[in-house]
Amino acid sequence: MCGIVGYIGHRDAYPIVLKGLQRLEYRGYDSAGIALYNDGELKVSKTKGKVADLKAKIESENNTAGTLALGHTRWATHGVPNDVNSHPHMSNSGNLVIIHNGIIENYESLKKELKARGYTFESDTDTEVLVNLIEDVSKKENVRLGKAVQIALNQTVGAYAIAVFDKTKPNEIVVARLGSPLAIGVGEEEFFIASDASPFIEFTSNAIYLEDGEMAVVRRHKGVKVRKIKDDQLVDPYVQELQMNLEQIEKSNFDHFMLKEIYEQPSAITDTYRGRLLVNEGIIRMAGVDDNLERFLNARRIVIVACGTSWHAGLVAEYIFEDLARIPVEVEYASEFRYRNPIINSDDVVIAISQSGETADTMAAIKLAKEKGAFVFGVCNVVGSSISRETNAGAYTHAGPEIGVASTKAFTTQITVLTLIALKLAKAKGNISNTDFHMHLRELEMIPHKIEVALEANEHIKEVAFKYKDARNCLYLGRGYNFPVALEGALKLKEISYIHAEGYPAAEMKHGPIALIDENMPVVVIATRKGHYEKVVSNIQEIKSRSGKIIGIVTEGDTSVRDLADYVIEVPDTIESLTPLVTTIPLQLLSYHIAVMLGKNVDQPRNLAKSVTVE
Ligand code: GLU
Repeated sequence: MCGIVGYIGHRDAYPIVLKGLQRLEYRGYDSAGIALYNDGELKVSKTKGKVADLKAKIESENNTAGTLALGHTRWATHGVPNDVNSHPHMSNSGNLVIIHNGIIENYESLKKELKARGYTFESDTDTEVLVNLIEDVSKKENVRLGKAVQIALNQTVGAYAIAVFDKTKPNEIVVARLGSPLAIGVGEEEFFIASDASPFIEFTSNAIYLEDGEMAVVRRHKGVKVRKIKDDQLVDPYVQELQMNLEQIEKSNFDHFMLKEIYEQPSAITDTYRGRLLVNEGIIRMAGVDDNLERFLNARRIVIVACGTSWHAGLVAEYIFEDLARIPVEVEYASEFRYRNPIINSDDVVIAISQSGETADTMAAIKLAKEKGAFVFGVCNVVGSSISRETNAGAYTHAGPEIGVASTKAFTTQITVLTLIALKLAKAKGNISNTDFHMHLRELEMIPHKIEVALEANEHIKEVAFKYKDARNCLYLGRGYNFPVALEGALKLKEISYIHAEGYPAAEMKHGPIALIDENMPVVVIATRKGHYEKVVSNIQEIKSRSGKIIGIVTEGDTSVRDLADYVIEVPDTIESLTPLVTTIPLQLLSYHIAVMLGKNVDQPRNLAKSVTVE
C-alpha cells in the first residue's frame, strides 16, 4: 500500500525517484508526488492519478535538477484522492517536507492543538498534521530535525513509514517506521529510501531494513544513524545483502506482470521445493518445521490465519492437513480472528500466511495468538518482512517478487509450502504409508511440468474469455480440494475485470445460487476426474437443465463433461490433493484475458493495494 522513495547523494535524484515510484506502482495507489530540492529551492509537484501523469506535469515544467528528492504514491485513508491531499506535504513555514505511509490515528486532537497555536491546513490528511507537529516541536524545543521527529512521533498513535527533510539543511533525510515497511539502500556516499528494495536494486545491493519503532538520520556524507524512537537508544544497523535482481522486477516480454507471474509458476514452484523435497532420499527437509517438530506433532489443532488469496491457500491446506496428517484445522480470516476473542491455547499451532509479510490484520492476529501462548509459524514470500520476523518460525515461498496486484504465483507456492509441511507431518505421525508418501513426493516434483502443460491451453482460454467477457455475473463451482480453487477463481475475476463472481461448493448451489442460473449465466465448474467426479457431473446436469452456460475444467481426455459443457479446458491428471495446483492455472488465465479484453488495468486494478498495510 502506497509507496515511498527518496534519494540523497551525488546523482540527479529525479530520475531515480520517478523510476522508483514506477516500480512501486504495483502496491496500489491513487495519486503521486515528488519533492525535489535544488540550490536552496524546494519544488513540490503532485497530482491525483498515475505516476505517468506526474511525470508529464513535472517534465512540462522542467523541474528536474537536484540531488535530494522524496517521492510518494498515495493510497488515501484520510481525505479523498485529489491534488491537494496528495503527498509530499509541507509545513507552514515551507521548510519541512514529508511523505508518509500509514495512519496517524490521533490526528484530530493534534490538529486542534496546532490550530489553536496558529497553524493552518490545506489538506484533509493526517500527514499534514504530522509535518506541522514536527515543525512546532523543532521551534518550541529548538532541536535538530531528527530530535523533532522523534519527539513528535512519541506524541502520535498509529502506524507509519515516513521520510522528511528540511530545505534549510539539505544534507539529511530523517526516516522512521512503525507498522509500515521502510528500507534504506546504502551506496557510496549516496542513500536510497524506499518501501521495498525494488527502487534501488540497480544501484546497490546493501540495505538496512528498519525495525518497527526505529528511526534513522541519513546524512549525505556521514552515513546512517539508527535509534529507537521511544527511548532514544542507538541501534547498530544490520546491513543486509539483497538477493533480488533487476530482471526479476521487470516485465520481460510479457504485456503485464500478472501474465509473467502466471507463466513463472513452474519455476517458482521449483524454487519453493528446491532443497526441501528430496525425492530420491524420500525426505522433506524444512528447517522451520524440523526445529519445531514436537510443537507440530503435539498440536491439538492448527489454526490458519490469512486474508484474501492467502486465505484461499489456507483453505486448500485445511483439506490436505486433515486428509494426510490427520490434524484438525481451522481457517480464519485474520481480520475476524483478531477482534472476536478467539479460543487459542498453548498447544495450538497457528500458521499465518501472507505474500508480502506486511498484511496488517494478519500481523495483529499473530500478536494475539502469541499473547495466548500459541506457537506461530509464518508462510511469507518477502524475505525479512515484518511477519517473517514476528513469527516463532516459518518457511518462505521463494516465489520471487510478485508485482501484479492479483496474486497468482504467491497462491500456488503457498499451497506448495503447506503441502510439504502436511506431508512431512503425515510421515512423522505415521499417518501415511511409505508408498503413498513416495508417490506424493514424485507427483509434487512433477507439478511444474504439469503446470507448463496446463499453460498450453492459453489460446483456447482466450477464445473462452472472448465468448464470456460481457457477462455481468459468473459462478464458480468446485468440490473438495477444488472448492477453494473455485473461490480463488471468482476472486481473480472480480479483482481485475470487475465482473461480479461467486465461488461455491458445487453441492451448495442447490441451496440458493441455482436461482441465479439462466441462459446468461456462465458457470465455471472444476470437474477433474479425481475428486467427487460423478457428483460434480450431476451438478453440471442440474445447471444444464436450467440453460446455464458451462465451462468445465477437466482432466485430459475427459469425455463426459465435454458432452455436457459449452467449453472445456483440460488440465493434466494428478493426485487429488495436488489438483488445486493445476486447476488454478486456467482460472488465472481466464480472468486475465477477460480483463485485458475489457481494457482494464490488469496489474493495478482500481481500489486495490498489493500489500494491505492498514486494517
Ligand atoms: N494517511 C495518509 C493519507 O491519507 C497516508 C496514506 C498512505 O499510506 O498512502 O494521505
